Amino acid sequence: MSRMFVPGPVDVADEVLQAQAAPMLPHRSKEFETIFRRASEKAQQLFYTKYRVFLAAASGTGLQEAAIRNFVHKRVLSVVNGAFADRWYEVAVYNGKEVDELAFDWNIPASPDRIADTVKKGGFEALTIVHNETSTGLQNPVKEIAEAVHTVAPDTLIFVDAVSSLGGAKIEMDAWGIDMLLTSSQKCLALPPGLALGAVSDRAMKKAETVENRGWYFDLVRMEKHRLKDSSPATPAMSLIYALDFQLDRILAEGLENRFARHSAMAKRVQEWADAHDLSMYAPDGFRSQTVTTIKNDRGISISDLNTFLKQREMRIANGYGQLKEKTFRIAHMGETQMEDIEKLLEAMEEYLKKS
Ligand code: PLP
Repeated sequence: MSRMFVPGPVDVADEVLQAQAAPMLPHRSKEFETIFRRASEKAQQLFYTKYRVFLAAASGTGLQEAAIRNFVHKRVLSVVNGAFADRWYEVAVYNGKEVDELAFDWNIPASPDRIADTVKKGGFEALTIVHNETSTGLQNPVKEIAEAVHTVAPDTLIFVDAVSSLGGAKIEMDAWGIDMLLTSSQKCLALPPGLALGAVSDRAMKKAETVENRGWYFDLVRMEKHRLKDSSPATPAMSLIYALDFQLDRILAEGLENRFARHSAMAKRVQEWADAHDLSMYAPDGFRSQTVTTIKNDRGISISDLNTFLKQREMRIANGYGQLKEKTFRIAHMGETQMEDIEKLLEAMEEYLKKS
């Protein structure tokens, strides 16, 4: 049963937690290397890629940084329409790159045409974009954006943050022409936090070899050398890899299409409920996330009071993020969450609204 309707960390199934309790092995042993490779190969299916998937002992932000350090000499464009896109922009700035920000209002999807117009002016080695803005519940049209960028600037690499959507929404890395696609363990994969997964195209890997000052810990050229031997330069997060290996079997057994459909149905249900209760969605129709719904607090509900009420029933939702606190609230429907969990939550929310 799901209790945490917050967009990560999410509830982890007991059997997945148990998978972490397997005994340690020497990380350079054949036994562990087999598990490491197996988990990474299975993960390729989630990313819809034939390319490599790195498993890093870090949260997703670590791989945002890796993208910037490994594949950009100098100039990068950050598309920003939410808090996590803004973080990626900052990551680029703090790593000393020349970064241009292309900002959109937070409730507006990034426009493929405007991005193409900017990229056309030339000189951008890469572009960063967030697929699913966890702060706003908005899903950017990444497929169309990638297509537009490929048309006007085929050499510009495309980096996509799918921290709160990969495994809950279909993102076809190879078909869409994405060069780095990254996620974190604690969201749609329903694992504990601490692991980041990132798939990288061959052309990006080739470029990395020419980039100086890639650092050490997130040097993907170094990681690739080790990955080819089913290993990693530093000690991996072994317990999380055990859990990932186990969880990927569960995810693939559900079937990816079934999983995406489950998420989409829950999103639709939450949107309909909000509509029926005079609450509107923050993101426009057609661009709403299927893993987290951000609802405008049109009724002036005290979100902290509501959460106190929900916690008595062992549930919790998320307040708005940053500047959207109390102005919006968020209901996540990702990972292990099932429709019956959502029904239970909505029933409790209804009870709260009636009495307040
Ligand atoms: N990107 C998005 C879209 C996120 O939602 C988050 C965290 O919530 C991050 C990046 C940062 O991920 P992490 O906390 O795993 O570093």
